[in-house]
Amino acid sequence: MPELPEVEITTRNLNKIIQPPEVVQEWIFYRKDLRNVIPVTKIKKLNGSQLKKISRRAKFIIFEFENDSIVSHLGMTGYWRVETKNWQKKAHDHIAMKLNEDKYLVYNDPRRFGEFDIFKNSNLHERFAHFGPEPLQQDLDLDVLTKTFKKINSTIKVALMNQKYLVGVGNIYASEALFRSKIKPHKKANKVRAADYALLWTEVKKVLQEAIEAGGSSISDFKNSYGEKGDFQKRFLVYDRKDELCFTCHHPIQSLVLGGRSTFWCRHCQK
Ligand SMILES: [Zn+2]
Repeated sequence: MPELPEVEITTRNLNKIIQPPEVVQEWIFYRKDLRNVIPVTKIKKLNGSQLKKISRRAKFIIFEFENDSIVSHLGMTGYWRVETKNWQKKAHDHIAMKLNEDKYLVYNDPRRFGEFDIFKNSNLHERFAHFGPEPLQQDLDLDVLTKTFKKINSTIKVALMNQKYLVGVGNIYASEALFRSKIKPHKKANKVRAADYALLWTEVKKVLQEAIEAGGSSISDFKNSYGEKGDFQKRFLVYDRKDELCFTCHHPIQSLVLGGRSTFWCRHCQK
């Protein structure tokens, strides 16, 4: 599933391709639902409207128009790609945004877990009311974040992936950041020491930044909007490395299931 780095890369690419402000001439839908029903009629009313801004919040891409915003989530396998005149529809192309005769953005999503919805700009904050802070925001208050986590009774790995406390960190980057900060993933969040949290926040930011710079991780076929795959999967220290040797201590990497998700860790390096 695309996590923060992959959605950030997609958002940056869309900004390069579209360069808002730009008018979206037409929204084209090849089906009326993804994970949920798509409000096709409402969105088509935006045909001919000027797209003002494309931004990211948590793992959502926000296409902001004058009064409304379209919120897109890539689900497990969604991605946007740029196309030109006479493009051929491929399997699993579900939505197209026509910018002009020679430029289209096409949303492809084989597993259709993506979301596509529209909100009044005045209501947009409600959509994100239950989301925690952004790990890469400049003014993130790490002491407040640590205090929040010190009250959580679940395992640190599950807490880290809960968007209510901190957004954007999913299964891959939670395992990687915990390894880098030497914290075992099944330790209770309220038992992790403040000093270890300080290290964890540093490593969360670093791993996300490094992944963005590497073009993201392409494990469930993530491609950026130019059809290129990311490289960060080659740099995983623990994720998807069960029984392979830890690069630090040379013992085999372990796996366990936490919150229903495969979790990778090193028994010798993480305490
Ligand atoms: Zn190790």
